[in-house]
Amino acid sequence: MKQRSSHAALDLFRVAAAVLVVAIHTSPLTSYTQAGDFFLTRILGRVAVPFFFMVSGYFLAQKGWVSTRSFLKKTLALYGGAVLLYLPLNWYQGGFSPWEWVRRLLVEGTLYHLWYFPALVVGVLLAKGLLRLKLPLALTGAALLYLVGLGGDSYYGLAVQIPGLKALYDGVFQLFSHTRNGLFFAPLFLLLGAVGISLRPAVAAAGLASSFAAMTAEAFLLRSFGVQRHDSMYLFLPLCMVFLFSLLLSANSGENRTGRRLSALIYLLHPWCIVLVRGGAKVLRLNGLLIENSLFHFAAVLTLSCLLSALILLPRRPRKDARAWREIDIGALETNAKALRSVLSPGCRLMAVVKADAYGHGAVPVARALQRQGIREFAVACLAEGVALRRAGIRGTILILGYTDPTEAPLLFRYRLTQAVADLSHAQALSARKLPLHVHVAVDTGLHRLGVDAGDHEQLARLYRLRHLRVDGTFSHLSDCDSLCKEDMERTRSQLEQFQEAVDALRFMGCRPGKVHIQSSYAVWNLPPQRCDYARIGIALYGVYSSSSAVYHPLALQPVLSLKSRVASVRTLDAGEWAGYGKVFQTRRETRLATVSIGYADGLPRDLPQRGGTVLIHGQRCPMVGRMFMDQLLVDVTDCADAAAGDVVTLIGQDGPHCISAERLAVSCGTITNELLSRLGQRLTLIVR
Ligand SMILES: *Cc1c(COP(=O)(O)O)cnc(C)c1O
Repeated sequence: MKQRSSHAALDLFRVAAAVLVVAIHTSPLTSYTQAGDFFLTRILGRVAVPFFFMVSGYFLAQKGWVSTRSFLKKTLALYGGAVLLYLPLNWYQGGFSPWEWVRRLLVEGTLYHLWYFPALVVGVLLAKGLLRLKLPLALTGAALLYLVGLGGDSYYGLAVQIPGLKALYDGVFQLFSHTRNGLFFAPLFLLLGAVGISLRPAVAAAGLASSFAAMTAEAFLLRSFGVQRHDSMYLFLPLCMVFLFSLLLSANSGENRTGRRLSALIYLLHPWCIVLVRGGAKVLRLNGLLIENSLFHFAAVLTLSCLLSALILLPRRPRKDARAWREIDIGALETNAKALRSVLSPGCRLMAVVKADAYGHGAVPVARALQRQGIREFAVACLAEGVALRRAGIRGTILILGYTDPTEAPLLFRYRLTQAVADLSHAQALSARKLPLHVHVAVDTGLHRLGVDAGDHEQLARLYRLRHLRVDGTFSHLSDCDSLCKEDMERTRSQLEQFQEAVDALRFMGCRPGKVHIQSSYAVWNLPPQRCDYARIGIALYGVYSSSSAVYHPLALQPVLSLKSRVASVRTLDAGEWAGYGKVFQTRRETRLATVSIGYADGLPRDLPQRGGTVLIHGQRCPMVGRMFMDQLLVDVTDCADAAAGDVVTLIGQDGPHCISAERLAVSCGTITNELLSRLGQRLTLIVR
């Protein structure tokens, strides 16, 4: 089951932890009280980095550690970026020897705060390795490593009293300058985070208060004895962290991505900000204020870090649901594909027609979803559409139904696209390009659009003998299968017969027709299953009929697309006022008028308001009024008291009890859904659900 993400408190505490890290590196209170600064930066501040490790462990464990690889990749990428970011400082400080570079990169980090990244990578690998053991054993292992680390950190003076341990730590410090690293420090916190112990809040709070008090006493005691070699690790620190983390877990609801990103950026950038504040203070002759006063120094560094991070975090592009958008329901698409496949004759495969940006539904997301469902044949209208699908990773057959200029043959070849041949001369010109091209032969059974005359068997057969063309299929397109009137059905039957005769004649003449196909959506709805290899289905996949006329075998299909926009502004007009261009609309009563951010440039028919167009706001139906604008339209919301700027407006789709179907909209505009949907403009964003 998918877990609802719920970690706002963790996200917010990250920001607090990042601020503590800035404090550790700027010592805000030294100008006032040494003991106070020790408390702030060497005791309180020491919860920050363990907390970051615990969060990582927590989220990795939530996903069953399956995302470890991508997590490590991301961490390494971030580390690489940070190393580059701080190269100028390394260079300014005189750089390192090659061996020191290696050691720094692998263990210490290339600047004082970057040790975190290699520690995280090593720690995660170790923690995951330890988890092969039973959990209590894994935790014991990590705790033992932590104890070794502790002896090299704030208990160093005591540890080296014990014979044998001195030699051990001498060895350790040959390799590492601190034991606060990925080997001794990180695994325990990663595992404690992974376990995610969740106590009752009152218990956690009491536990936190007492263990933090104990840690404070411990730290001051160690400091007074002067045994600390470094001051990152305490005996009570893991206990403190368990209670703190439990408290944060209990306060969780929602998530705060900004908090998460902000904390990471503050962490990454603050050493540069220290340099900039110091440099700036010297230039501005503000040394006394910004450098010597530790509190102001800290405040300046923190402010600059936050400002820079916030600048980087400024959004780059408008929200997808900010103005006017199409919403695609992939679940509905999958349902439709399944329903359609189930009614095709055995051996007949569904070729998904995704031309014209999948009838306005977004060809790439639609084709990807269908490909995941096992659909291997797609049809498009033109070369560019085929290329776009290939570049988006769509495999299998992509048939171009429209004409492609023979000079484009190299592109057909390069992207392994299958071309429909429009007539004999098209086929000859393609063959003359001397590339092994895959084609399907179009047979004209009366539509008279593209294809070779079905009755001209001689000419047809010549296509199959062209030297460079690989004929993989033979197809035709019906002209009247959407109609149930007797005359049209007669014509459809005759077209089917002509096609069958042509295919039989080809076989008789020794030509292989390859995959044969003739049905489109309406042939599936209105005809018995045809013994073909493919059914080329467009509009039915999208869960709508072309018009409101009846079909013979209706299927339970679901509309895939909704069209939505937002109210930009609401105003009240007196009775008798004109609104919009051209004096088309005059209020009859006091009227609340909403301006909605979608217009004919987004693909809506301009005369929709005059044809009785409506929209849904707060589940209520409201009429469009006045002339539609290029980018907006007007809606009478007098009877929808709640309507206000920012509200979602549904133009196609369901809202509360009401639904505006694409069919109804198309009928009221005197067109078919195919036109209405495929014209939905490029300016509309696409939200895939
Ligand atoms: C568009 C098209 C289709 C799909 O038609 P629908 O009615 O949308 O299913 C099938 N074949 C050809 C040749 C087409 O041009």
